[in-house]
Formats: sequence, structure tokens, C-alpha cells
Amino acid sequence: MQRWEARLNLVQWMLLVGTSVSVLAATSEEVYRQRRLQMVARALEAEGIKDQAVLRAMRKVPRHKFVPGQEKRAYENWPLPIGYGQTISQPYIVGLMTDLLDVDKDDIVLEVGTGSGYQAAVLAEIVKHVYTIEIIKPLGLSARARLRRLGYTNVTVKVGDGYYGWPEHAPFDAIIVTAAASHIPPPLVKQLKPGGKMAIPVGNPFQVQNLMLVEKRPDGKIRTRNILPVAFVPLTGGHDRPEE
Ligand code: SAM
Repeated sequence: MQRWEARLNLVQWMLLVGTSVSVLAATSEEVYRQRRLQMVARALEAEGIKDQAVLRAMRKVPRHKFVPGQEKRAYENWPLPIGYGQTISQPYIVGLMTDLLDVDKDDIVLEVGTGSGYQAAVLAEIVKHVYTIEIIKPLGLSARARLRRLGYTNVTVKVGDGYYGWPEHAPFDAIIVTAAASHIPPPLVKQLKPGGKMAIPVGNPFQVQNLMLVEKRPDGKIRTRNILPVAFVPLTGGHDRPEE
């Protein structure tokens, strides 16, 4: 065989492999998309979540890219471990909490508990900007890199203690806390705009907690409502340390 023939065969072979790899990747993305649509239909719509913006966002955000190594389980309606003893919340709870915030395209939202960055991405599909705080540094850094890779330019991730909020960007149209607090953090109430809403699990972190909706009325008065029992990982940080 001539040397140029061998080279041609090698080039053809590489093209074939390259094409097969991209066809396979496109096929598995389509499989994930179908599973995602099914998840939204079964875990959200069938359970009463009607807000079209929330449903659209959750049909779009690729949850399998937020749970490395567990892609096959990404579209089940369960929380999944994301390392460091933390979890990505169950899709129904993500949908419900997003729905409760009642946000739209001009809103600025604060999230406490970035975790994988999934909830931030869902919000980012709906609102103008999401500020999100994660207390575990490696989780915050990897969520920041992931969100950047996926093109979410309207999310800012900070590593820190979210109990104290992010006063530089306050007031917020809505606040979502995705870890269980023993009480509603006063700094977060202060940073909520009049007319704004906060969704937060409150209760003992090692028992069932209550998902609460906190509304700051236009006159500044606070109204709280219990929505349903939930089980979240605890909100940690300086505020929980005993007085010295
Ligand atoms: N929203 C996340 C997602 O979409 O993947 C899931 C959040 S996970 C249930 C709760 C997260 O809150 C954990 O990553 C945990 O480290 C974080 N966390 C706990 N206490 C915190 C605090 N005081 N400030 C910021 N993040 C906190």
C-alpha cells in the first residue's frame, strides 16, 4: 500500500470516529431532553405546578450536567448527593420553591446555598440576575465554573456565609434559602424588598422542617405561611456557633 493511501485511510478513520462520537453525544443529549420533559410533566405539572416560566425553565436546564457521575439518575424526582455531605434538591421542590417566589424577568434574586448551581440556573432562566452564596468553598467554585461553562452570565456566585445575605446587592425582589435554618435570618428579612417573597425551610435540621413563605408587604409588615413539610441539609455558619 502506498504511504499516501495509508494516510488517507487514517484520515478517513479519524473522521468516522469523530462523526460517531458527535452523533452519540447528540443522541444522548436528546435522550436526556426527553427524560427531562417527562420529569417536568410527572413531577411538576401533575403535582400542580402551573407557572409556565417555571415549567419552561425546568424543561431547559440540563440537570444531568449538575450531578457528575450520576447522570442516569438526574431526571428522577429525588434529591441526589453532590459531595461534601450536601445534596441537589428534588426537582419538585426546586419547581415549587421557584413558583412560590413569583418572580419575573426584571427581578434580582438572592439564593443562599448554591450547591451544584442547579437552582440558580433555573432562576437565571426566568429573572434578570441571581446572586448566590455557598459556604463550602469547593462546591461554590465548581458551581461557578459549571454555570460559566453552561453560559449563565446572569449568575454571580460567592463563597461565604449566606446567613448574612449580600447587602451590597440588596434589596432583593426575592430570596430563596435552600438549607434548613433554625429561624428566619433577620439579615435576609432586612434585605428583602417590600412586596418581595422569601422561600425558606425552617426547623430542626435533623428532623422534618417546614417550607415557609415569608412575604414582606409593601408597608414593610411580615407575613409567614407554612407550605409543606420538607427535609433539607442544615444551614451552617457562624450564627449557629454558641456564644463564647
Ligand atoms: N440549591 C442547591 C442546588 O441547586 O444544587 C442545593 C442546595 S443544598 C440542599 C444546600 C446547600 O447550602 C449546601 O451546598 C450547603 O453547603 C449550603 N449552605 C449551608 N449553610 C450555608 C450558609 N450559611 N451559607 C451558604 N450556603 C450554605
